[in-house]
Amino acid sequence: MQGVGFRPFVYRLARRCSLAGWVLNDSRGVEIELEGSQKDIDDFAESLEREAPPLARIASVTRKRVTPLAETEFVIRPSQVEAEKATLISPDCATCDDCVGELFDPSDRRYRYPFINCTNCGPRYTIIRDFPYDRPLTTMSKFKMCSACQAEYDDPADRRFHAQPNACWDCGPGVTLLQPDGTVPSKNDDAVAQSARLLREGRILAIKGLGGFHLSVDATDEKAVARLRRRKFREAKPLAIMSPSLETIRTFCRPSPTHEKLLTSVQRPIVLCPKLPGGPIAESVAPRSRNFGVMLPYTPLHHLIMREGFVALVMTSGNQTDEPIAIDNDEALRRLGGIADAFLTHDRDILTRIDDSVIAVMGDSAVPVRRARGFAPAPIELPRPADHHILAVGAEGKNTFCFVRDNFAFPSQHIGDLDTPIALGFFEEVIERLQKLLQVEPSVIAHDLHPAYLSTAYAKRRPAQHHVGVQHHHAHIVSGMVEHSLEGEVIGLALDGTGYGTDGTIWGSELLVAGYRDFRRLGWLKPTPMPGGDRCVESPDRMAFSFLYSAYGTAAADLKLSPVERIPSDDRIVLVQMLEKGINSPPSSGMGRFFDAVSALLDVCPNPSFDGQPAIELEFFADDEKGAYPLEPPSEEPPLVFDPSPLIRAAVNDIGKGIPREVISARFHNSILSMCVKMSLAARAATGLDRVVLSGGVFQNQYLTERVLAELSERGFRVYLHNQVPPNDGCISLGQAAIAAERTSE
Ligand code: ZN
Ligand code: ZN
Ligand code: FE
Repeated sequence: MQGVGFRPFVYRLARRCSLAGWVLNDSRGVEIELEGSQKDIDDFAESLEREAPPLARIASVTRKRVTPLAETEFVIRPSQVEAEKATLISPDCATCDDCVGELFDPSDRRYRYPFINCTNCGPRYTIIRDFPYDRPLTTMSKFKMCSACQAEYDDPADRRFHAQPNACWDCGPGVTLLQPDGTVPSKNDDAVAQSARLLREGRILAIKGLGGFHLSVDATDEKAVARLRRRKFREAKPLAIMSPSLETIRTFCRPSPTHEKLLTSVQRPIVLCPKLPGGPIAESVAPRSRNFGVMLPYTPLHHLIMREGFVALVMTSGNQTDEPIAIDNDEALRRLGGIADAFLTHDRDILTRIDDSVIAVMGDSAVPVRRARGFAPAPIELPRPADHHILAVGAEGKNTFCFVRDNFAFPSQHIGDLDTPIALGFFEEVIERLQKLLQVEPSVIAHDLHPAYLSTAYAKRRPAQHHVGVQHHHAHIVSGMVEHSLEGEVIGLALDGTGYGTDGTIWGSELLVAGYRDFRRLGWLKPTPMPGGDRCVESPDRMAFSFLYSAYGTAAADLKLSPVERIPSDDRIVLVQMLEKGINSPPSSGMGRFFDAVSALLDVCPNPSFDGQPAIELEFFADDEKGAYPLEPPSEEPPLVFDPSPLIRAAVNDIGKGIPREVISARFHNSILSMCVKMSLAARAATGLDRVVLSGGVFQNQYLTERVLAELSERGFRVYLHNQVPPNDGCISLGQAAIAAERTSE
């Protein structure tokens, strides 16, 4: 990758080991020639992998003996042009420990400088204007390095050798605090002190970060958090928080060693950590959630603010709910003016918006929920090189897209839901940018089969040699195969809200046997109509009513159950007519809708304010209890079709008996668990395959996923969870890309 300091590292190491020779980048990677004693060369080889810079990735090392040339010096040779083209752009990276040390060292010339960075840390992807990655082509071009900075930049032995964003108090960017009430703007250290004071007073601050603005309040201040929610129109969705250290996080969370490793990784993602009861964080930060989404500081400015004595600050994306994050100073003032009381900005421009990444822990595995800062645009390796450059445009919700060049897939950062003009603009803008940075000219465009997805419409507008339509759940499973380098065929369990099927109906509880080229569907949940289509997503009561109608017929309208009673009786009559005649009631086998319905039956979340909320809250209600409801296919021979009606009747009986909803929720989850086991066993019996890939947003449900993992492993399956892209629709573009590569290869 470019700009991660690998060549200077090799240079320093070779000199330390008293070796002569050279290092250069070529199109296959890094080539090093060494001349010296065998022992010194062995020492070098050993240290090479152990001490490599944090941002470098060594895939493999090959060694070859060459004739000695009596060399006496070690040099960095200029790279070949071809090599420049093949090198990869590094993601942005959290401030390293060395830089944090200097930041708080009063004798250092960068003491408290908010833009301190080095070759091992700092911005990359968000400041690159064009290819190749070099200072004049970054947003640092307007700052001319002072002689001290330039000397570091030019010295191969220095930690800041070729660190493109290198800067200091004398020559680099600065921070400014703007208060819209006309207060004179304060600068730098004063701005940091004033910002901390405003936060302590309960004010809302917009803070410019690496990939956009955050909206911030003191996370221990209930009133301030409530005001932020009101102004941002965000009712219930948990807010991310930032805390100064692991020690502080342990005062309100119970992080496992896996959580702690993720929290302190160079990517510094938001990690979903179990709450510790009775901690100091305001209840409204993550109401009715078992977790806090928490992260550590990742820019020097964050470190400076957090050291002002905060336990935690809310750090939520600087946007109106459902819009992309703001990056520009003027844009922030315009779009966030109604939300923030003051703006802590700076004059290093951000060229691409990128949200914080989010990672959950399932068992001991890290499962991404949102892949963005710190990860994009790093590539994921495909099993084989593709014949063409490919663009895969992804799904409609939680969109990412993906480029393919040779054997690398480059998934974009999380773009989000494409249903607003501003989001669609963001989608097209990042496509153009990445296309330039990666030097690709796609002749193959892959897209979802759903005709109404805006990403599909974009794909069809864009001319190409081949347009490849990919079934949604096939893409889900193949993305998991790519991440784990699985060849051949696998059993795929794809459980999600909605995906367009090859038969034109809505799928979402799928047992597939899948390879890179094709798939077969061996089982599913019997479809239930969605009266009013997507209106069922907003109103789980409607969906519950439809499930009840399937189980009880017209008698459903008279059941003494809260979702039925919440629907006015006139509307119930209309719903029954719609369901009887099949008017505007597309059948769906989506597992998300099943969760919504059960959630409504248990009164868990009748008025969801964000996507997936009923299912998420249903999970948090689940007790650790063993029982399950009947959810059986009529035959064990594929295709297995699971009828939900007996389960619904059993759950309704439990409600009638006054069984606690914690127990009913657990029994429901256990039924889905047993469906997953039966599906896998039937697929193994039919095909002999024993590898199972789990994908779809439902596998963000920790209760279910951990149990499926355990039960299938116990039965001898090898089970694969996502580990680089999310199980939700953020993974679709990667799957589309790999399938299109396979289908367009010779
Ligand atoms: Zn550093
Ligand atoms: Zn300087
Ligand atoms: Fe999906």
